[in-house]
Amino acid sequence: MASLKLKNIYKKYPGGVTAVNDFNLDIQDKEFVVLVGPSGCGKSTTLRMIAGLEEITSGELLIDGKLVNDIAPKDRDIAMVFQNYALYPHMTVFENMAFGLKLRKTPKGEIKKRVQEAARILEIEHLLDRSIKALSGGQRQRVALGRAIVREPKVFLMDEPLSNLDAKLRATMRTEIIRLHQRLQTTIIYVTHDQTEAMTMGSRIVVMKDGYIQQVESPQVLYEKPVNKFVAQFIGTPQMNIAEVRVEKSGEDVLLRLGRWTVKLPKRKAEVLERYGYIDKTVLMGIRPEHIHDEPVYIEQFKDCIIEAPIDVIELLGSESLVYFTIEDVSFVSRIKPRHNLYVGDVQRFAINSERVHIFDKDTENIITN
Ligand code: ADP
Repeated sequence: MASLKLKNIYKKYPGGVTAVNDFNLDIQDKEFVVLVGPSGCGKSTTLRMIAGLEEITSGELLIDGKLVNDIAPKDRDIAMVFQNYALYPHMTVFENMAFGLKLRKTPKGEIKKRVQEAARILEIEHLLDRSIKALSGGQRQRVALGRAIVREPKVFLMDEPLSNLDAKLRATMRTEIIRLHQRLQTTIIYVTHDQTEAMTMGSRIVVMKDGYIQQVESPQVLYEKPVNKFVAQFIGTPQMNIAEVRVEKSGEDVLLRLGRWTVKLPKRKAEVLERYGYIDKTVLMGIRPEHIHDEPVYIEQFKDCIIEAPIDVIELLGSESLVYFTIEDVSFVSRIKPRHNLYVGDVQRFAINSERVHIFDKDTENIITN
């Protein structure tokens, strides 16, 4: 059992860098929380403060309701898995996994039992007598996880644990860690810069930028209701299309204008723009690639939201195609079903799914309506 509470946590490094600003988060017992953001946004610093490897400049860290700011790392009941594994190359797999328990003077029989159980969970029982040097990257990663599991910690912290693995193995290990979480039923806090990893693994995702939390949400809500342009473009590949458009009132309708093209907004979004005084102003229109359609049924359904442009590039991905085009110097990408009668240079008609348009303030880049 472990819940965590981070209250107004700051980290100022000597020399003046404020790596983490006013970080507030409640983590429930058994939750899988992922901290994600570009390099340098303060993810590792946050994780290291939770582990006790980095001093908290100000704020409070509570584990199961108990203030632990001044508790030594070894007494926090937390295990950390790093990207470089930090295994002892001259020891066997068994010795590596047993090492921490030995230091803690755990009885021999108990050590053996726990290592074997962890090895069984990770399916590395047959490797226990091997030397670390004789293992592949994926096997080493399992040993590193095993070493954390045997300690039976209340909380697992993982700092980019898969970043040294090749793409295929990374995908496999991603699934394994999700399974591991289900089996162990412990709290996991996981750091990555990879949004796909975050989206597939986390039950809740904390998006960070420049030391500040941007948004904390489930993957689905993050995808559908980003709070600002940064989150909107950080989550999802290819990233959300963004264009500067002008808001116009035409009779009862509210339109977004891009050059000679207009997108008529559904009533709910139109009302929000009007209420907050955006008529005749410039805003940012966001639309995900999969919400720009070329199929006749959508062209009909969104006939007030049509744009046309010659195709710049087509990427055939098998199950889908990415089609790139440019309107008013803004490049767009659309994710459509693969078709064979589509050629670069052809003028193509697309419908913007106006129900799925996100509108951001041009200056603050905060969401106006999703
Ligand atoms: P992330 O894990 O998101 O890549 P970090 O937490 O490692 O980011 O770093 C956040 C910021 O703090 C960066 O600007 C980084 O340069 C700075 N930083 C990290 N560690 C130290 C340190 N030991 N001393 C000074 N600045 C540091």
